[in-house]
Amino acid sequence: MITGKTKLLGVIGYPIEHSLSPVMHNAAIAELGLDYAYLPFAIKPEDLPTAIAGFEAIGLQGFNVTIPHKQAIMSLLSEISPVAQAVGAVNTVCRTEHGWQGTNTDVAGFLAPLKALQRDWQQTIAVILGNGGAARAVVAACSQLGCAAVQVVGRDRQKLQEFQQSWQTSPVTVNLQTMLWQDLPQLLPTAGLVVNTTPIGMHPHDSQSPIPLEMFPGLQPGAIAYDLIYNPRPTLFLQQAAHHGAIPLDGLEMLVQQGAAALELWLGRSVPVEVMRRSLQEYLANPRL
Ligand code: NAP
Repeated sequence: MITGKTKLLGVIGYPIEHSLSPVMHNAAIAELGLDYAYLPFAIKPEDLPTAIAGFEAIGLQGFNVTIPHKQAIMSLLSEISPVAQAVGAVNTVCRTEHGWQGTNTDVAGFLAPLKALQRDWQQTIAVILGNGGAARAVVAACSQLGCAAVQVVGRDRQKLQEFQQSWQTSPVTVNLQTMLWQDLPQLLPTAGLVVNTTPIGMHPHDSQSPIPLEMFPGLQPGAIAYDLIYNPRPTLFLQQAAHHGAIPLDGLEMLVQQGAAALELWLGRSVPVEVMRRSLQEYLANPRL
């Protein structure tokens, strides 16, 4: 029930209609019996400063940030956590006495399902498909794991060069190389972790795979195939990888864990992760709910 005392949380993006965050956050809030509501806000890039000033005025308690604001928001905050500085993007903002504080929970979200697996990360070469915003969180996570090398595959030489250079001035220590897609056949046989951070294979393009089907036999058996996509579950990439002996991980757990980490920061308490996970599984199985 919305009352006169209801506190507000939310997510900003443009567009925002596709966001699943309201589903899982409101499920957790209901489970905890708290007088909070989590709302989606469609904010055009040019309206971002006005929106943040408005959030200040209405007393919003905190918010998530998604495409296209993850970098632009940084100049509007009073404080940015070391992890968000390292990634170069903010996905969670908290109200503090000193103003808005930004952090990045995507790194912790990405790492959560990997930590359950026994691996010698120092011997592991990670291949990351794509060089956008999510790839930045994955590189920072691979650095935290201590991966032997991180090979980032992209399609635009200029963007790859900028991506490579951005890590040279960052606090993140990582043995990073950037490659073109044509190099993939040489990279796959030595990769212990292959991460798809492109939208290739996302619904409604379920029949697409970032890796051509004929290249899957080159995957190391026992390699981890990690797709950040959570719709469909599994993607064609994960189906094919599992068929060739890889361990598949989809993006749902990352989504749940980055959300749970954000909600913990706003509420200052532990949150019901299983309720958040189940709410998303149920919603994805029947999105008209
Ligand atoms: P982004 O910043 O737009 O980056 C997308 C990357 O994919 C870019 O490097 C882009 O290359 C590349 N790409 C796009 N289409 C391609 C194609 N047809 N062929 C080759 N490369 C292509 O997006 P993002 O924020 O990183 O998100 C990427 C994906 O991760 C999305 O599917 C998103 O839903 C998912 N994600 C999931 C979670 C989670 O919690 N599970 C969190 C964050 C993101 P160019 O730069 O050359 O265009």
